[in-house]
Amino acid sequence: MPYFEITKSDPQSKARVGVIHTAHGDINTPAFLPIGTKGAVKSVTTEELKFWGAEIVLANTYHLWQRPGDPLIYKAGGLHKFMNWKGPIFTDSGGFQVFSLAKMRKTMEAGVLFQFDLDGRTEILSPEKSIDIQANLGSDIALILDDFPGYPFEYDRSKESIALTKRWAERAIKEFQKIIIDGDPINPGQKLWGIVQGASFPDLRKQSAEDMVSLGFEAFAVGGVAVGEPHSEMMKAVEAVIPYLPENSPKHLLGVGTPFDIVQGVARGCDTFDCVIPTREARHGRLYISAKNIQLPLTPSLKKEGGSPQLSEEGQGKTPPLFSKERDGESFAEGYSTTDIKLDPPSPRLRRTAPDSKSESDDNNQSSSIVEGYSTIDIRLEKYKEDFTPVDNTCDCYLCLNHTKGYLRHLFATGEPLAIRLATMHNLRFYLNLMKKIRTAIQYDYFGDMVRDFKNYTD
Ligand SMILES: [Zn+2]
Repeated sequence: MPYFEITKSDPQSKARVGVIHTAHGDINTPAFLPIGTKGAVKSVTTEELKFWGAEIVLANTYHLWQRPGDPLIYKAGGLHKFMNWKGPIFTDSGGFQVFSLAKMRKTMEAGVLFQFDLDGRTEILSPEKSIDIQANLGSDIALILDDFPGYPFEYDRSKESIALTKRWAERAIKEFQKIIIDGDPINPGQKLWGIVQGASFPDLRKQSAEDMVSLGFEAFAVGGVAVGEPHSEMMKAVEAVIPYLPENSPKHLLGVGTPFDIVQGVARGCDTFDCVIPTREARHGRLYISAKNIQLPLTPSLKKEGGSPQLSEEGQGKTPPLFSKERDGESFAEGYSTTDIKLDPPSPRLRRTAPDSKSESDDNNQSSSIVEGYSTIDIRLEKYKEDFTPVDNTCDCYLCLNHTKGYLRHLFATGEPLAIRLATMHNLRFYLNLMKKIRTAIQYDYFGDMVRDFKNYTD
């Protein structure tokens, strides 16, 4: 079985639907990776992550090296057992956190000399050390250590950076192979992915991509993006890389991004994404809501499909406490407003593209009802104090099915820990649902329309 299978390609863009097969299960792509920085997605249990549709999580090598230390996690049987997450885990090299968090940092041929941010301990993160730590964690996807020169981008420094990244990659591969052959790896099925650097310079991006391909990697991450550059520059970097990587290889866009960035990244051929945005913003009361919510106060589909969330196969028979949505046998969405229902006209695109759809003229459809995209709200604002509607009535998360904006605002105002927990669940569900929508759109050949119409309505 190939490591990565593409099951459908979009005729209008480089987007594709696929499956990455890992030692801990399959990842349906395009996929979003919630970030479990220190072995936990803040305030959310692993069972809840699985329930809301996450198939893989990302954990940070730097943080786990610092605390509790990779030898301890090795002793626990690896990160999967330590955090009780049975699905695939992606670990980064630790290099980006050394760059962004360490107290002191000096890049040398041997590696990066730095001081940990918490205790000031001095260490060298070398290509070999990064591989050793990730082997002890036992992740399914490990990354090579790369050199990241920072933003704003400078050509000469970026050129040195891709050359150093290539030399480090050669050392990382040797160490990786040594552990697989001679060591006692926690996860013998771990795969090592290459990283393409090169800032926003197309010739350097091309060179770096070719370097990684020549070293024999089967899968790739695009690094050095989402570091302060404008969206257009980020997309140019992606466009400069993708044509030089094998089409049938999975490609991860590191640290990206907003829902808009993700849709645009998928259109350019990226398969997986990770970002702190949904969880970090949730902790600050910023929530992502579907643009459909603006026009559709209550949808019949919510009542039917979202009213009683089904447990995933994994979760059958053991409902986590926050999932049992009980309100006298009736969903909150059904109960809060029955007089002001605006019916949701079927999406013209779905009518046109669903497998069993009848041929209907699009001319008869109400194009004004087509709403793609999202907006964000700050739930802490005074205006939500007496708002007794759900955050997003097109969302099927626990928060939206059970609570009002007014209640969530109250929880934030009074510092209740539940506020962060509910907001995090909602934002993660929004992102994971977005990926599902993207996969469906590619599957049924209307992803091009989705890209064209998908907007951030916040500003
Ligand atoms: Zn929700």
